[in-house]
Amino acid sequence: MAESPDADLFLVREIRKGDQRAWKQLIDKYQGRLLAFARSRLRGPGEAEDALQETLMGFVTSLANYDESRSLETYLFAILRYKIGEVLTKKNRRREVATGFDIDDDAQRPIDPGFEETPSARAAQAEITRQQQDVLAAILRRLIDELRDRDKLDDLQVIELIFYVGLRNKEVADRLDRDEKGVAGVKFRALAKLRDYIEDLDEAQRNLLGEGELSSETTVSRVWRQGRLSCLKRSTLGSYVLGVLDDPWEAYTRFHLDEVQCLMCRANLEDLSQESERVSEGDVSDRLFQSSVGFLSQRGGG
Ligand SMILES: [Zn+2]
Repeated sequence: MAESPDADLFLVREIRKGDQRAWKQLIDKYQGRLLAFARSRLRGPGEAEDALQETLMGFVTSLANYDESRSLETYLFAILRYKIGEVLTKKNRRREVATGFDIDDDAQRPIDPGFEETPSARAAQAEITRQQQDVLAAILRRLIDELRDRDKLDDLQVIELIFYVGLRNKEVADRLDRDEKGVAGVKFRALAKLRDYIEDLDEAQRNLLGEGELSSETTVSRVWRQGRLSCLKRSTLGSYVLGVLDDPWEAYTRFHLDEVQCLMCRANLEDLSQESERVSEGDVSDRLFQSSVGFLSQRGGG
């Protein structure tokens, strides 16, 4: 069950042509994990289903803004988080639902400017911010990849708790049962690497990324979450469910799910665990299709 970006790209291109079957396939593929995620954040009756429905309609109506080089799953989760944020803001009870590490401010700062009309000055600023975040995401991803390639997943856990969750060295040491000096060393080396990576950027990118971004914990954390930089592949989560994942990946996966409490990966995991019971969800899938396919036909016309 490997994730194939090519398969997603094909689906999106068919949907852009107005292909209803492709739209149904996209819903079938992603509704389980998106619904599980929405249900982890919204507890009111029907709220999660409504948010998912609005997400799908939002995706279809903003299809022109979807950048094909970005992960479709990440994009769908971003829209869903935005919709959930709207519901929670409306209900004014955002702080009460702190059930996992996904308390975010996406509703205030839509990552996709396509969702609302903005005056051009604000749009230009949003574009610069987006470019900054892209560069920041790129160097963080390089750091994560490098640690993964060298099987340094213990160090990745340290980095993730510091940069993503925002814990202090001492807290990290306690959580991971490591000594504080070791944690400080990992952080020191990571920051040195990030500075090296910044040196490798071309000048335009380097100018985008001022001193501020690296030292702003909230910016780093938001970029990390929105890009799902350390999230697990669905195939990895599938192996985890089956109990065939070896260390250090098994330990890392458990860490990301249970210590970091990444709600998006937990939603994916739940969806995978229930895949065999999927037959009963045929109704949900049909309803989502019926409610959103009209927007697709409208697009096809123009
Ligand atoms: Zn994750």
